[in-house]
Amino acid sequence: MEKQRVLSARGLIKQFQMGEVNVKALDGVDFDIYEGEFIVILGPSGSGKSTLLNMIGGMDSLDGGTLYFKEKPVHTLDKAGMAQYRRDVVGFVFQFYNLIPSLNAFENVALAAQISKRGLDVAETLQRVGLSERMDHFPSQLSGGQQQRVAMARAIAKNPDILLCDEPTGALDSESSDSVMQLLKNINQTYGKTVIVITHDREIAQIADRVFHINDGRLTHIEPSS
Ligand code: ADP
Ligand code: MG
Repeated sequence: MEKQRVLSARGLIKQFQMGEVNVKALDGVDFDIYEGEFIVILGPSGSGKSTLLNMIGGMDSLDGGTLYFKEKPVHTLDKAGMAQYRRDVVGFVFQFYNLIPSLNAFENVALAAQISKRGLDVAETLQRVGLSERMDHFPSQLSGGQQQRVAMARAIAKNPDILLCDEPTGALDSESSDSVMQLLKNINQTYGKTVIVITHDREIAQIADRVFHINDGRLTHIEPSS
């Protein structure tokens, strides 16, 4: 059976006006991503990685180009449509976890599960990321690696189609970094979720099905070529 295309982008443009200077953060980006793929996007700082992930995640509007999720246009969605897309389709994992400090691990994950119309069981999801024993701990009582695993549980608990990770190991030591990446690969394989990780760490690219390289807002090449 042919793999289903989950994302299709053509000519994505995003520009920022900084005083007199116009920065083209995305300068004509094309790609197709298929169901269940593990994609790593590699590029130096300032190359447009976060901008690209934010566009895929419906966090901001494009200045040009077309983006389709399963043949449905994302680039023409209005505010309410974008909110629904963010709620149901994508799960986000950020470099600095972004957990709510006054909520414990369980409550942080439950909050996300509740806003989704097909949210998963919270305790089970925390067990999946190896944190059954830490459910009542607050973010300040957890290590960086553990906090990132709570953040991953939060993203999965929404049961999204696509998991988007912006430098998920950027703040971690190499051991925690390895366990977070292994967990991402595991989520990709056991839940069949499409995972997109952006990073400037070449080592992480080894576990990807395909690696995209971005420079100055352009995808320079995609490997292995399909
Ligand atoms: P990366 O994540 O690869 O480090 P970004 O996508 O954050 O890169 O940024 C790409 C370019 O767009 C940079 O030149 C950055 O300064 C600029 N940029 C990103 N977001 C904004 C913004 N909100 N306002 C102005 N410029 C921005
Ligand atoms: Mg970035």
